[in-house]
Amino acid sequence: MSTFKSLGLNENLLKAITDMGFETPSEVQAKTIPLLLNEETDLVSLAQTGTGKTAAFGFPMLQKIDSESRTTQGLILSPTRELCMQIANEMAQYGKYVKGLNVVAIYGGASITDQAKQIKKGAQIIVATPGRMKDMIGRRMIDISKIEYCVLDEADEMLNMGFYEDITEILSHSPETKSTWLFSATMPKEVSSIAKKFMRTPVEITVGSKNVSTENVSHEFYLVNTRDRYAALKRLSDANPDIFSVIFCRTKRDTQKVAEQLITDGYNAAALHGDLSQNQRDIVMKSFRSRQIKMLVATDVAARGIDVDDVTHVIHYQLPDEIETYTHRSGRTGRAGKSGVSMVIVSKSEVRKIHSIEKMIQKKFEQKDIPGGMEICEVQLFHLANSIKDTKINHEIDLYLPNINEVLADFSKEELIKKVFSVEFTRFYNYYKNAKDLNAPSGGNVDYGDSDSKDSVRYFVNIGAKDDFDWMTLKDFLRDLLDLEKDDVYKVDVKDTFSFFNTDEKHQELVMGVFNDFKLDGRNISIEISKDRGGRSRSGGGRSGGGRGRGDRDRGGRSDRGGRGFKGKGGSGSGSGSGDKGSYSKRSGSGERTGSFSDRKSGSSDDRPKFAGKSRRRTEKPQNTGTGGKRRRKS
Ligand code: ADP
Ligand code: MG
Repeated sequence: MSTFKSLGLNENLLKAITDMGFETPSEVQAKTIPLLLNEETDLVSLAQTGTGKTAAFGFPMLQKIDSESRTTQGLILSPTRELCMQIANEMAQYGKYVKGLNVVAIYGGASITDQAKQIKKGAQIIVATPGRMKDMIGRRMIDISKIEYCVLDEADEMLNMGFYEDITEILSHSPETKSTWLFSATMPKEVSSIAKKFMRTPVEITVGSKNVSTENVSHEFYLVNTRDRYAALKRLSDANPDIFSVIFCRTKRDTQKVAEQLITDGYNAAALHGDLSQNQRDIVMKSFRSRQIKMLVATDVAARGIDVDDVTHVIHYQLPDEIETYTHRSGRTGRAGKSGVSMVIVSKSEVRKIHSIEKMIQKKFEQKDIPGGMEICEVQLFHLANSIKDTKINHEIDLYLPNINEVLADFSKEELIKKVFSVEFTRFYNYYKNAKDLNAPSGGNVDYGDSDSKDSVRYFVNIGAKDDFDWMTLKDFLRDLLDLEKDDVYKVDVKDTFSFFNTDEKHQELVMGVFNDFKLDGRNISIEISKDRGGRSRSGGGRSGGGRGRGDRDRGGRSDRGGRGFKGKGGSGSGSGSGDKGSYSKRSGSGERTGSFSDRKSGSSDDRPKFAGKSRRRTEKPQNTGTGGKRRRKS
């Protein structure tokens, strides 16, 4: 096995590596570092998240630049401010024994003049987001005409975020002679085309197989009714007392709502999305890193590249629109050799997406049941028992013990245990004793692809792309207007001047009623029921009712009493929060856990998602302007 020394790194870097506790190079490091040290070449390197790419380009860059010169020699472009700061920090750590080194991070949302000042002092390496970088080049605050190395980090994410043009613009100010090193977790065609455009015969290094999500992540899905999503989320969290998770929602609004509701229900949660100020986001991330926050509810964009180790669970509160995004999301867990779980909460109409994701990640999902109330109580009880067992005694208490003993003198050990546990357990028990089964019947087998076995109505409506809708925004718009849950409106198909969408038959009256007199920007909007049911015949029979009782399913065989999801951990069910000692782990699981029992204020008393509080929004209310606006219809 290679060592950092055998890769050809110099003493300064080796010393820093020892300080950081890295023992052996990861695969991408072992393959990349010698190559970049010995050759001036362009490089495309594909490796999953958490494989140590920063050091793979960081060490060679640090070794090759001239730290005595003040000239900017290395540029690292990365998609988000978070990542920029992370990379700049890592680089500074790697290079802490490199004399005269100055690494500067450049990103939006912070003072541009401050950043310009730092650059002026002479930064050999700049780590930047494309937007701010372009801006500063435009204002002649940065000169990259002499750079020798340019890294495009998380290239797929940068392109996802629409930075293609900014990158092109930036690179046009850099010399032809530089080497470009591109790093990416996946290789969609946009990335290959950027490689073609900006690189000369790059060497390609692939670690693991392309487009496959992290090895250490297991994938699960839970089938629920849309209205039970939030309750399901709570149960998943309660059933995993050690949870340290990122929860993904599709929109900023849902992100905010879910986080607020979790907070109301006493969880250590926070929202992370683009409507927060940079400062607020920093605070949230800081609390998450230090584990004051255990459930970070985030949008895809805001969570891009979040690099927090030891995330135990990624929960997809909703699936992303683009299935490729799934890989990015689930890559937030299972980092640095740890194992992680990616849990998807799906409604029946989304189950088919699971199938597509399986194809993409080349891994099977396991369908699991949302744990029942009593199962959760049991998990929590064992968790509490283990926390008590592991708790270090605080001898400050000794002073008060005589009095405490006096108060409790009449109880036996057994009685005391019962009482201690009841303090916490009763609350949980009361909350969950009447909890219903949240699992939606899937009619026996998982019905991938055939979610159409309900009576569905397809509508034609004369608003479309011309009115600035795409299918996603139209879906949100309709859901709001109709006061329906998101998945009650489906198969939204937006054409230029008109669109189609479906609802279940039971909503037909509501839909027709609301649209009867509806104006958008002063224009009459008309709706009619389409003969086309959305491309597939409807199979009769309606919803499969209760189906077969899920409650009958055997839930006994769980071997993971003490909280699950910590496969890498030795010992059985001790529930300790420390990391396992994989060969590629350097951190020793920081932070103490607070048992989830105590993490929680009293829960609200019913299991229904409170946040679903409906708010009508700024759309014009139906007005009495008469029906029958012109109907445009393509034949
Ligand atoms: P990527 O960019 O591939 O997602 P990072 O470069 O962010 O991964 O590294 C993930 C984590 O692993 C970081 O915390 C980093 O400090 C750590 N790490 C990197 N290389 C090693 C190594 N050789 N041994 C132990 N830990 C490492
Ligand atoms: Mg990285």
